[in-house]
Amino acid sequence: MRTLDDLDVAGKRVLVRVDFNVPLDDDGNITDDARIRAALPTLEELREQGARLLLAAHLGRPKGRDETFSLRPVAERLGELLGTEVVLAPSLDDVPDGDVVMLENVRFEPGETENDAELARRYAALADVYVNDAFGAAHRAHASTEAVAHALPSAAGRLLEREVATLTRILEAPERPLVAVVGGAKVTDKIGVLEAFLARADRILVGGAMCFPFFKVQGHAVGASLCEEEGLEPARRVLAAGGEKLRLPSDLVAGREFSADTETQPLDGIDVPDGWMGLDVGPRTATGYAEVIRDAGTVFWNGPMGAFELAPFAAGTRTVAEAVAECDGITVVGGGDSAAAIAQFGLADRVTHLSTGGGASLELIEGKTLPGVEALS
Ligand code: ADP
Ligand code: MG
Repeated sequence: MRTLDDLDVAGKRVLVRVDFNVPLDDDGNITDDARIRAALPTLEELREQGARLLLAAHLGRPKGRDETFSLRPVAERLGELLGTEVVLAPSLDDVPDGDVVMLENVRFEPGETENDAELARRYAALADVYVNDAFGAAHRAHASTEAVAHALPSAAGRLLEREVATLTRILEAPERPLVAVVGGAKVTDKIGVLEAFLARADRILVGGAMCFPFFKVQGHAVGASLCEEEGLEPARRVLAAGGEKLRLPSDLVAGREFSADTETQPLDGIDVPDGWMGLDVGPRTATGYAEVIRDAGTVFWNGPMGAFELAPFAAGTRTVAEAVAECDGITVVGGGDSAAAIAQFGLADRVTHLSTGGGASLELIEGKTLPGVEALS
């Protein structure tokens, strides 16, 4: 993969695809600017080398041009962070000159999500060089992430470079033992990741709602727990192949419903009674997982151990997060909610790498090639 080291950008206009898909509140204020901050090293390096920047990004999923998905608040916030004015271009036909210019939401353009070559040529006509730093969008073949990379001299930005290097190393040359911690709600999204780790990890620790399809196929009662029907067959496969590597919870915390003030019950075991849902791993499970994590050479964590947003069900995720923070090995956290959990416990600066790309990091771990990365190779 080509990087900034392979490009000459002095005096040039550089089209930089960034991942500025930030969360906004109802009044259009940015509630978390981490994704904007994550692109600063690349943007600052390019500016120091004398490049003028033309930024391209998407925000949300607009159907055509729609002011509620305008990048205006993002341009303002970036301007504050860079300490310079960021001019928002009204359209591709009206792109002002300037040191830092931002195109409007690329998803306003027909053809963007179809990877349209003609649209890519229009992007390319606006710049001399293309840099992709949008790791979070690299698993999509869109005109601003894939086709445009073929229309200009192109390379990866520093964020994308670091994401790919860190995640590839987990697959190819991890410090051992390699421990994968997989939890969260969307079991079917993560089955591919579990299967990838079956081949590579020394230990796989399963938590969150992820465990219920496993328990169900083992014949346990899952009560009202979140348990996707489509997860059963994959769980059966992983159980059959997992052997000693795979660890499932041995105790749980149950609640009547998904709410912070619901009635709760510790379960010394994994059978969930009717009318109850398993909402966290129990203390014995969490302590056992923490021991394995602390001794790991590499930890990859995706998916909380329970409904950590609700105080009565946060303990399992907290114990795991603390162990990840204490581990001396390489620790990588992927996934939006896992990152939110680590931040909620004040431990975000104690992991080696917090991945900015949920879907992209999972696909890379699954061994898939990312179109946005492939196009830079
Ligand atoms: P990530 O964003 O880190 O990939 P997911 O989106 O897969 O993680 O899962 C996060 C969600 O899973 C959280 O909202 C959490 O409340 C939920 N969750 C975790 N464990 C359970 C459980 N046992 N029952 C219901 N929801 C759960
Ligand atoms: Mg999530």
